[in-house]
Amino acid sequence: MVKNMKDLFAKFSDETVCREHLIKQRWPDGNIVCQYCGHKKCYRIEGGERFKCANNKCYKRFRVTVGTIFESSNIPLTTWFPAMYLILNHKKGISSCQLARDLGVTQKTAWFMLHRIREQLKANNSPMLSGTVEVDETFVGGIVGNMSKKRRAALRTENGGTAQNKTMVVGMLEREGNLKFMAMGKETGSHVLQPLVRANVDRNAALITDSSANYEGLSKQYLSHEVVNHSNQEYVRPNGIHTNSIEGAFSLLKRSIIGIYHHVTPKHLSRYCDETAFRYNTRKVTDPTRFDLSLTMVEGRLRYKDLTYEPEVAPSVFKEQITLQQGIKRKVHQVMEGQVVRTFKTIKEAAEYVGVHKSRISKVLRGVSKSAGGFQWKYA
Ligand SMILES: [Zn+2]
Repeated sequence: MVKNMKDLFAKFSDETVCREHLIKQRWPDGNIVCQYCGHKKCYRIEGGERFKCANNKCYKRFRVTVGTIFESSNIPLTTWFPAMYLILNHKKGISSCQLARDLGVTQKTAWFMLHRIREQLKANNSPMLSGTVEVDETFVGGIVGNMSKKRRAALRTENGGTAQNKTMVVGMLEREGNLKFMAMGKETGSHVLQPLVRANVDRNAALITDSSANYEGLSKQYLSHEVVNHSNQEYVRPNGIHTNSIEGAFSLLKRSIIGIYHHVTPKHLSRYCDETAFRYNTRKVTDPTRFDLSLTMVEGRLRYKDLTYEPEVAPSVFKEQITLQQGIKRKVHQVMEGQVVRTFKTIKEAAEYVGVHKSRISKVLRGVSKSAGGFQWKYA
């Protein structure tokens, strides 16, 4: 385990060391699982750099990064690892500009890394909350008065008359336990909130909420439901009946959005929620442990197409990759010694035919590498 940032740089200064560390984190028992067919036996090829599936119907080759947030990025793991360490261990998060300066990468690269890391922190399968659970909601969003006339008018049309630009975030906090944040969009009300509570809080829990009508009726479904009536200036009742803990967690979220990220679109908000919740839930562990924990969560990657493209923030350098990921189909030529050997309808088709991962062909098309599968590649 690394002790601190300095230690991290010393230990993971070499790509091979990073790769081996990731292999160990992903498959602790040493059985490498094929990322295409799920076969549990794969051989190491190319001196350990890649694997080849042992299933004779598959034989696919892949790197350790396939199926993780590091997949098909040109950024070396020696940059990814410190990035993860930095973002996880800054109490209020880190901006892409700061990360870019710290790591010596462009802001564009840093921006995308941040989003992928956040996506990874999603605690989708986190257990149900139990015991005493505080539930509350808050609203995050731009101040309408600061917007242009045009934008305000657009909002009014969208929301049927009012220029409302706040996104509801629901927070649930198990006392001495885990926190969950969920960004819900503009729709509010009990029909949104109550199913959400039922999906995330165990029926044997004791709920504490404010006196909002949105929570009315939950007392019948739960062990108990205590209501703190804020409008009566009631904040803390005896026996620990309050919602101060969840409100404290909300202020962490808001502080990081205001202090670091300035402007968060509703579409990206859920990722900031995940980041804050992850940091909160690991508040009792040391920085290095938090980093190691996050490495066990690298499965499943955020694809460019899933990352809503926001022209004002998304850098143009990703445009081509977004096009590729969205599967806007472009024909590709397989080229050998300057001659077109074959033409494929898509990169995917070409990749399957020659038995390499599609990202390798795409790298040739982008001019990042010279050949893939022993051929040159050109757009038709
Ligand atoms: Zn396979």
